[in-house]
Amino acid sequence: MTDNGHSVTASAIKAKGVFIDNQWRPSNSGKVIDVHAPANGMAFAEIAAGDAVDIDLAVAAARRAFETGAWSKLAAFERGRFLSRLGLAVLDHAEELALLEARDTGKPIKQARADIQACARYFEFYGGAADKFHGETIPFLNGYLVATEREPHGVTGHIIPWNYPAQMFGRSLAPALATGNATVMKPAEDACLSTLRLAELAAEVGFPEGAINVVPGLGVEAGAALISHPDVGFLSFTGSPEVGVLVQTEAARNHISCTLELGGKSPQIVFADVDLDSALPSLVNAIVQNAGQTCSAGSRLLVERSSYDRVIEAVVERFSALQAGTPEMDLDLGALINPRQKKRVETFIEQTQEAGIPLLAQGSIADGAPAAGYYVAPRLFGPVPRANTLAREEVFGPVLSVIPFDDEADAVALANDTDFGLIAGVWTRDAKRGTRVARQIRGGQVYINAYGAGGGIELPFGGTRKSGHGREKGMAALHDFTTLKTIVIKHD
Ligand code: NAD
Repeated sequence: MTDNGHSVTASAIKAKGVFIDNQWRPSNSGKVIDVHAPANGMAFAEIAAGDAVDIDLAVAAARRAFETGAWSKLAAFERGRFLSRLGLAVLDHAEELALLEARDTGKPIKQARADIQACARYFEFYGGAADKFHGETIPFLNGYLVATEREPHGVTGHIIPWNYPAQMFGRSLAPALATGNATVMKPAEDACLSTLRLAELAAEVGFPEGAINVVPGLGVEAGAALISHPDVGFLSFTGSPEVGVLVQTEAARNHISCTLELGGKSPQIVFADVDLDSALPSLVNAIVQNAGQTCSAGSRLLVERSSYDRVIEAVVERFSALQAGTPEMDLDLGALINPRQKKRVETFIEQTQEAGIPLLAQGSIADGAPAAGYYVAPRLFGPVPRANTLAREEVFGPVLSVIPFDDEADAVALANDTDFGLIAGVWTRDAKRGTRVARQIRGGQVYINAYGAGGGIELPFGGTRKSGHGREKGMAALHDFTTLKTIVIKHD
C-alpha cells in the first residue's frame, strides 16, 4: 500500500476510487492498495483504500435510496426487472469478468467462467423471486383480519471474502436487493476487481443511485467502519470465524441481526458399498476446487474400514495426477490467494509430517508455473488421527485428510466430531442408510451420492456453530434479509 494515490509498481489497472451513488469518487485518503496476481506474484492492479469516511458516504447514499423510496418503494416486480437485467449484463460481459476474476484470484479460467455464470444465476433467480416472496394471513378471532408482511431492514452491510468475489457479489447482494434493501459492500482487499466492475454494470443497466455501493479497502478500516455503522440495519458476512465474532459483536452493540458464513471442516462419508467410479471425481474435486479455498471444501474423507484399501488406492491414483498452474494453463487448481495463505497451508503440511502422519499422495505444480506464484501441490494424508489438528481445523488449501470409520454409528459420530457444521456428503448404494445418516449430520446441507452440486443457487446454504448461522441462497435468503411484521385489523 502506498500514499498519495500512487503505487510503487506500474500497475496496469489503476484505482478508480470508491463506487457510491452509481459513480466513482476519489477515496477520502487517496491511498491505494496494490493487487497481486496469485499466479505470478506480480502487482497488476491497484484499488482504493476506502476508510470510515467513505463508508459513511456509502451508507448515507444507501439510506437515501431506501428512505426516499427510490429503490425500496419500487414495485417488487420492478426491482426484479433490475436484477434480471443485471443478470443479462453479467452474461453479456462473461468473458471479460472471467478473465478479471481468474487473474485476481489465480483460479483456472474454467473455474472463473463457472463463477461468472453462477453470479448471473443469482441475479436471475432473485430477479424472478422478487415478486413471489410474501407474507400470509393468519386465522384469528372473529372480526379480525391478520396479515403478515416481509419488510426490508433498510441499509444492509455486506462483507465478503476473496475466494469467490463475483459469486459472493451475487449471493449476498441479489436477495438483499430483491427484498428492497439498499446495500453497501466492502469486498476483500486481496481480490475484488470483479465486484467493482459488477457495480459499474449495475449502474449501466439503470439501478437507482444508492441501491448498490461498493467501498474497497482493508478489513480493519473500511470493514470495521461498516460493521459498526449505526445506520446499517443488517450485516451479511462471509469470512473467517475470528472476524465473524467481531461482526456479531458489533451487530449486538447496534441491536441488529446478521448472517455469518464462516467455513467448515466438511466430511465426505464413504461406505463400503459406494459406487466408486461415480464418487471418485467428487471425492477429489471437493478439496481441489479453488485450491481448497472454499468454505464448503470436502476436507475430511471418512472411509469405512472394510473398504479402506480399495477406496484409498483409487483416490491416490487420481490425487497423484492433479496439477496446479496458471489460469491460462487451466489445470485442476490454481495458486493460493496470497503468500500468507500459502505459508499457512505449508505450516499445516509441515506439522502433519512432523506428527508422522503418512503422505499418501501428492499432486504437482506444472512446469512453467511461475516460481513467484503462490502454488501449493495438493496433499493427501492418512490415516489422520481423529484428534490431530489436520482432522479438526480448516486448512483452506488443497490438503485432504483420510480417516477410517468402523460402522454407521461411528461414521455419524466422526462426521459430527467437529466445531463446524456446514455441509456433508454421504456415499452409499443403500438409500435408507443414506437418508438415515443425512438426518443425523449436523450442518446446513447434506448430499447423498453427490457433493456441492455446483453451488446450487436454489438450495438454502449455511451452517451451525463455528460455521456460522443464517441461510443464504434459495428462497431462504429472502427471509434473512427481511423482518416480519404482523398487521391486525379489527373489522367488526
Ligand atoms: P477474513 O475474515 O480476515 O476476511 C474476510 C473479509 O472480512 C474481508 O473482506 C476482510 O477485509 C474483512 N475483514 C477483516 N477484518 C475485518 C474487521 N476487523 N472488520 C470488518 N471486516 C473485516 O479472512 P482472511 O484473513 O482473508 O482469511 C483467513 C481465513 O479465513 C482463511 O484461512 C479461512 O480459513 C477463512 N476464510 C473463510 C472464507 C469462507 O468462505 N468461509 C473465506 C475467506 C477466508
